[in-house]
Amino acid sequence: MKKIGVLTSGGDSPGMNACLRAVVRTAMYHNMEVVGFYRGYEGLIDNAHLNLDHKSVSNIIHRGGTILKTARSERFRTEAGVRQAAETLRSHQLEGLVIIGGDGSFRGAIELSKHIDIPIVGCAGTIDNDLVGTDFTIGYDTAINTVIEALDKLRDTAESHDRIFVVEVMGRDAGLIALRTAIAAGAEALLVPEIKNDVDKLLTHMKNWRSSKSSKIVIVAEGDESGGAYKIADIIRKEIPQSEVRVSILGHIQRGGNPTCMERVNASILGYQAVNGLLEGHRNEMVGLINKEVVYTPFEKAVKHIETLSPDMLRLLDILSL
Ligand code: ATP
Repeated sequence: MKKIGVLTSGGDSPGMNACLRAVVRTAMYHNMEVVGFYRGYEGLIDNAHLNLDHKSVSNIIHRGGTILKTARSERFRTEAGVRQAAETLRSHQLEGLVIIGGDGSFRGAIELSKHIDIPIVGCAGTIDNDLVGTDFTIGYDTAINTVIEALDKLRDTAESHDRIFVVEVMGRDAGLIALRTAIAAGAEALLVPEIKNDVDKLLTHMKNWRSSKSSKIVIVAEGDESGGAYKIADIIRKEIPQSEVRVSILGHIQRGGNPTCMERVNASILGYQAVNGLLEGHRNEMVGLINKEVVYTPFEKAVKHIETLSPDMLRLLDILSL
C-alpha cells in the first residue's frame, strides 16, 4: 500500500486532530503518501484535498476541532454524490481510506464501498460514546471533563445563593455524558432518554432531599423526553414555589477545547491501529478499543447501541445524591 486518504466527518470532537496526526505519522513510517480531504464527504465530492506529511500534523495533538474541518454532507446522501466521491478517490490512485467520524459517517462509507473497491477503516469520532465496537469514542473524555468544569463553577454560584440549577448537557439519544458527569459533580438528580417518566421520579426524589442541602444540581440530557431544562425548571418552580431555579444549557462548549491526556492517547492508538488495520487487510471496519484490546467491527455493526444505562451506576447516583 503506497497511498491512502483520510478525512474527518460528522460532528467535530476533540481528539480528532490527535487521531489524524497518528494516521499520517504511521503512514509515513510505512513510507506511504497521505491525502487529506477537507470537510468530510463534501471534500471528497469536490476534490478539496491537501497532501499531508509530518509537518502538516505538527503542533495539533493538543488542539480541539479538526484541522481538516468536517461537515454533514447532504450531497453525499445522493447516488450522484457518492459516485463523484469514489471518482475523486480513483483520481488520486488511493489504495485505502481512513474515516474519522460517527456511525453516520460509517453508513456513508458502506455506500462508498459499493462504488470503489478499496479498503476503508473507521475511527470512532463522536462525543456521545454510544457506538457498538468500542469502549471509547474520540471526544467523550474531553466532553465529560468540560461538563465537570462547568458544573463545578455552577455549584459555586448555586451554593452561594441557595439555588437549584437545571443543567442541560449533550446526549440526543444517550445519557452517558449526563450520568457520568452527574456522579462526578455530585449532582442531586438526573434525567436521561433511557429512563421514561423520570420527571415523576424527580418529584419524589426532590421530597427526599435533605433540608440541610443548600444547592441542588439537576442534570438533563438534551434527548430526555421531558423536553429540556427550561421545562424541568418550570416543573420544579411549581412543585417548590419558594425555590430559586436557574437554567444553564452547556451547548457547544462541550465539543470544544483541548483534548484530555486520555483522549490524546486513545485517539493516537486508534489512528495508529487504523493504518495498521489497512495494512493487515481489514476493510470496511471500525477500529475500537474494548477492555484496552484493539477490535475491528464491520461498519454494519458499528451502530449506536440501544442499551440501558448501568443500573449499578444509577443506584450509586441515587444513594450519593440524597
Ligand atoms: P456524529 O456522531 O457526530 O453525529 P456522524 O458521523 O454520525 O457523527 P452524521 O451527520 O450522521 O454524523 O453522518 C455524517 C455524514 O455521513 C452525513 O452528513 C452524510 O453525508 C453521511 N451519511 C450518513 N448516513 C448516510 C447514508 N445512509 N448514506 C450515505 N451517506 C450517509
